[in-house]
Amino acid sequence: MSPPPRFKGIILDIDGVLKRGSTPIPGAAETVKRFRELGLKVVFLSNLSTKSREQYVDILRHKLGIDVSPDELVLATSATADYVAKYSRTRKVYFIGHSGLRAELEKAGLIIVDKPEEAEFVVAGSPFDERGYVTEDNKWKFTGAIRAILLAKARFVAVNPDKLFPGADGKPIPGTGTFLGAITAATGVEPIIIGKPSKEIYRIALDKMGVKPHEAIMVGDQLYTDIIPAKKLGLTTVLVLTGLTRREDLDKLDPETRKMIDYVFDSVQDVLKIVGGS
Ligand SMILES: [Mg+2]
Repeated sequence: MSPPPRFKGIILDIDGVLKRGSTPIPGAAETVKRFRELGLKVVFLSNLSTKSREQYVDILRHKLGIDVSPDELVLATSATADYVAKYSRTRKVYFIGHSGLRAELEKAGLIIVDKPEEAEFVVAGSPFDERGYVTEDNKWKFTGAIRAILLAKARFVAVNPDKLFPGADGKPIPGTGTFLGAITAATGVEPIIIGKPSKEIYRIALDKMGVKPHEAIMVGDQLYTDIIPAKKLGLTTVLVLTGLTRREDLDKLDPETRKMIDYVFDSVQDVLKIVGGS
């Protein structure tokens, strides 16, 4: 197959594309290496609300054998921090979530305030730990977030809308979206979502690579979070079957939705076929 020269960048979802749980997808590290040899810019994407780029560099390097710089990572946490830093005047943020999100907010020059009344933004990640408990630091944050929004008219921004996750025991635990639902119920205010399925995180990824939507490929394992927003922005979309979507699921799609997927491949390795690498 001759190499189509139109692709300059590739966005890779991490979970379900490069790894499944903590198990690397076979050939993923070599495939990323090939993308780079072919001159493609590569960005790695994750919607998790809890981890910073430094933490992800470690995961990719040590667990997956993929060498990345923090600059090649677009995480829901770092993208949210960049967004708030861009629109904030006072830089004062009331924050809910884990240390990884806090680290990204601070790195973006934002100031974490303890008093809700001082906040210009409420930034929400998940207040829950992997067993589904609200963490000690986040216990009062339900009340704090409501007060910041109602009393200080703080703008409400969230890392992702994910309502449920598999917990450490494999059973469901609540995610960021569950917290958002509670706060919206109390205040009547809907959050601005930065992570997937918002298009915002894809815009940030394209900016980072300096490529236009039609020059980029999005590789993901989920239709509604990876494929549809990327397609709506004009990227070429690849659905891989190493994550949450099975081939049978595709048969159930209506034709309009099915059209959002440009390629269905068994694994990320097959993406080499459309960038001239195999
Ligand atoms: Mg995924």
